[in-house]
Amino acid sequence: MINLEIPRKFEFLVSQAHQVANEVFRSNSRKYDEAEHSYPKELDMLAAVIEGMNEGGALSGAGAGAVGGGSNGSAKSTENGNRNGTNMASLLGLIELCWGDVGLLLTMPKQGLGQAAIAAVANEEQLKRFGGKWAAMAITEPEAGSDSAAIRTTATLDGDEYVLNGEKIFVTSGDRAELIVVWATLDRNQGRAAIKSFVVERDNPGLKLDRLEHKLGIRASDTANFVLDNCRIPKENLLGSPDIEPKRGFAGVMQTFDNTRPLVAGMAVGVARACLERTRELLTEAGIEIDYDAPPHTQSAAASEFIAMESDWEAARLLTLQAAWMADNKKPNSLQASMAKAKAGRTGTDIALRCVALCGSIGYGEGELLEKWARDVKILDLFEGTQQIQLLIISRLLLGKTSAELK
Ligand SMILES: Cc1cc2nc3c(=O)[nH]c(=O)nc-3n(C[C@H](O)[C@H](O)[C@H](O)COP(=O)(O)OP(=O)(O)OC[C@H]3O[C@@H](n4cnc5c(N)ncnc54)[C@H](O)[C@@H]3O)c2cc1C
Repeated sequence: MINLEIPRKFEFLVSQAHQVANEVFRSNSRKYDEAEHSYPKELDMLAAVIEGMNEGGALSGAGAGAVGGGSNGSAKSTENGNRNGTNMASLLGLIELCWGDVGLLLTMPKQGLGQAAIAAVANEEQLKRFGGKWAAMAITEPEAGSDSAAIRTTATLDGDEYVLNGEKIFVTSGDRAELIVVWATLDRNQGRAAIKSFVVERDNPGLKLDRLEHKLGIRASDTANFVLDNCRIPKENLLGSPDIEPKRGFAGVMQTFDNTRPLVAGMAVGVARACLERTRELLTEAGIEIDYDAPPHTQSAAASEFIAMESDWEAARLLTLQAAWMADNKKPNSLQASMAKAKAGRTGTDIALRCVALCGSIGYGEGELLEKWARDVKILDLFEGTQQIQLLIISRLLLGKTSAELK
């Protein structure tokens, strides 16, 4: 039998996250959707509370900031060797928080995806220096989006410092974070293996803000474009090994995605659940009964469509839980992480738009958050690797092809 219950030790975490999502996120959703680029100050107090709870172990690592490189963190192995650690805790927390508001979640102080990169490859000393800080992640460039191997930003060693030069675009929370994890190449002639990640303090004078983007959704979350102009950082800020090992290729930096993709999938699962719950309420108010025991053709088209969406949502949720569980149990999960991201990203977007359609003009109007969720959710099928890129990765892994063989 498959036990799909939430592990008992995470019940408190889930209920706390739900309360925050309901009382803080939902009540500020519309405000920061309309006031794009203004800082959601309500989150500061919340971040302090969460930090305190994390230190006390109460939250057991809720949020991207707490996720380790396939680590099981505070996980305790049960008798059958099954572990549920920081990856699962973070995922369950994020699902709840994104049920509240994914834009606000993405701009939660101290919870940036950069921390996942730090946790995946940093050494002990770096973990002490950078751990717990708000860290954004800067990979994308004007000429390097899906193809991150095409990165042009360079890092040149000069004495005890690296000098970074280049341009980074679409950096989530880039202007709000304390640190930015920048991907740059040590040698453009040596391809993927020369790409490393570097930690840059936000107030470094060589890191110049170019502009903040205006976006379709997640408007509470700022997206910054930067120029790195002779940006000098201590050489100890390179994460992982400075050696260029052609055989390892992208291994170091790519490791991050095995942990973050299930989390982004979880965000889509959370938004989609919000859509389904609100749609169910609106359908019920309209007198439409959803009967799970009746065959689809005997009930209304709306009810039948709703049930189909729920089952699709459940499939996305289960894939996502599996990918996070594998990370906690130190099982290679690249395939499942991409499957979860592809399925949840696509399903989340699909469900949100179908819910808007089912609710008609009510779903499309600003009186409901449904229209906002339909705008917000799209990004989850785009960043951290688009839908098409996830499918490409899955195909490569299933067929045993390299990135050169299957492009
Ligand atoms: C709101 C927002 C926040 C973001 N936050 C961050 C962040 O914090 N840090 C960061 O580094 N980046 C971030 N990004 C960038 C994001 O990760 C990229 O937009 C994404 O990787 C796609 O890159 P691109 O936009 O250059 O599209 P492109 O790579 O140009 O792709 C365009 C289209 O072509 C498709 N495509 C590309 N290659 C292939 C292929 N080989 N086969 C089939 N189809 C293909 C893509 O799927 C897509 O549909 C953010 C983006 C947005 C919009």
